Amino acid sequence: MSTHLNASKPAGRRRKLRTYGEARVCSKDGCSIRLSKYNRNTECHAHAPRRFPRTRGVLGEQVTG
Ligand SMILES: [Zn+2]
Repeated sequence: MSTHLNASKPAGRRRKLRTYGEARVCSKDGCSIRLSKYNRNTECHAHAPRRFPRTRGVLGEQVTG
């Protein structure tokens, strides 16, 4: 019995950057900030929901490890 890992390796080092369309603006009402094509959000930096709020004070769960 032979277990052979047949992982498909990407050929070469070419890596296309994912873009989300050019000439987009923030979807927030009244905001017309242009979005980067690399920004996957539909809102600008100021209006996009933040996933990792960098708060110093820890509220709730404390991450250990
Ligand atoms: Zn905005």
